[in-house]
Amino acid sequence: MEYAILGGGILGLTAALRLAQRGERVVVYERERVAGGLAAGFRLGDAWLEKYYHHLFRSDKAIQSLIAELGLGPKLCWPRPRTVTLWGGKTYQLDSPQTVLLFPPLNPVERLRMATVLAFLKLMPASPLEGKRTAAWIRRWMGEGPYRVVWEPLLRGKFGARKEEIALPWFWARVHDRSTELGYLRGGFQALYERLVERICDLGGEVLLGTTVSRVATSPNGRLVVITDRGEHAFDRVVSTLPPRLTCRLVPELPDEYRARYDWGEAYGAHCLILALDRPLTNAYWTNINDPGYPFLALVEHTNYMPPEDYDGRRLVYLGNYRPMNDPLFRMSKEEVLDEFLPHLERLNPAFSRDWILESWMFAAPYAQPIVTTEYREHIPPFETPVRGLYEASMFQIYPHDRGQNYSVALADKVVKMLVGSS
Ligand SMILES: Cc1cc2nc3c(=O)[nH]c(=O)nc-3n(C[C@H](O)[C@H](O)[C@H](O)COP(=O)(O)OP(=O)(O)OC[C@H]3O[C@@H](n4cnc5c(N)ncnc54)[C@H](O)[C@@H]3O)c2cc1C
Repeated sequence: MEYAILGGGILGLTAALRLAQRGERVVVYERERVAGGLAAGFRLGDAWLEKYYHHLFRSDKAIQSLIAELGLGPKLCWPRPRTVTLWGGKTYQLDSPQTVLLFPPLNPVERLRMATVLAFLKLMPASPLEGKRTAAWIRRWMGEGPYRVVWEPLLRGKFGARKEEIALPWFWARVHDRSTELGYLRGGFQALYERLVERICDLGGEVLLGTTVSRVATSPNGRLVVITDRGEHAFDRVVSTLPPRLTCRLVPELPDEYRARYDWGEAYGAHCLILALDRPLTNAYWTNINDPGYPFLALVEHTNYMPPEDYDGRRLVYLGNYRPMNDPLFRMSKEEVLDEFLPHLERLNPAFSRDWILESWMFAAPYAQPIVTTEYREHIPPFETPVRGLYEASMFQIYPHDRGQNYSVALADKVVKMLVGSS
């Protein structure tokens, strides 16, 4: 069988590896010049830094196995960095049951209620929660205080105007999947992506970076032709790891009934401004910005997690956002974003001055955060599409889990099992 994989993120690369390991011929098409999709990095001295903050949780078993299989296990480390919440101008540690019980912005009854509800979610399965909405459920069971201080800012930051509509199983998965120890590949997750490409090529596959797929069409002999900006080629099977909406655009043959159900819903884009500073800004890795009035939802000081020596002593800070893809933020220049964001850093650390900045970068990606409303589940496509030989397997199918490299690895394994089982 000859397979084309659309997309060279973790899902496409893992699927390609698994197919190549089974002796199938496989070609990966990736628009960007670097593999890794949303988790890709850029060079920073001898290391790579992700364009968007990344770490793993202890529950991310599929990706830990892949890392070990590719010989990168020794690079995976598990520090327990500080995660704090900014509320009323002060930061408080909030990353474990103990810290919930000691969280000063809530009164003792509210803390106990929140801790009990979180423990209850940890113990129960997701299915009875289907059809319920996160915001209303939290207000009802944890109370107005925890919702206003802790959860409303999180939901607003991730889902903006859609915050009231988010499905409760998404929140359940978030509570289930998290650990306080966070895993990172020293030197950057890019090592995993480079190793995957190497291994696929060693097994006779190809990874075509910098190659954009513009269309997929059935040829008169029943094969699928992948048309790109660098030529076209026919395959027996095509697996798209792109969001279903993008797959629908690339494959005009997909019938209207399929589009009505799966070319559906909204996704937000991700935006990160990264600063390299000559000194630390905060004393935490992750700061949830729960105070109103800030133009970013999280401040992630990567070098309070990984040693600054890995980056020639630079202190690295991400200022992150999720916004609708037509938000003005995505049209602003880096200078405009710096002018808007930097005055707010002085609110977090009054000593901060622009002279601390050695370098800065700005990245934006569309389709980075699916808006998982209560109807979302009904609109998750199956792997098989109505076009013969065309399959869809993307991070939009991992509900109720939030996006994560781990779930894309697990989904890649699953789709390949289905493919080889049916060949
Ligand atoms: C801000 C942010 C923070 C995150 N934090 C974490 C974290 O801490 N831990 C974690 O595990 N995960 C995290 N994630 C999620 C993680 O990055 C994704 O779950 C994962 O990378 C998805 O991989 P994928 O291969 O499924 O999709 P993608 O990475 O989106 O891959 C799809 C690929 O298709 C390519 N493509 C699109 N159109 C075309 C075309 N026409 N032709 C060719 N190629 C095309 C894209 O360039 C892309 O490389 C985060 C994501 C974001 C945005």
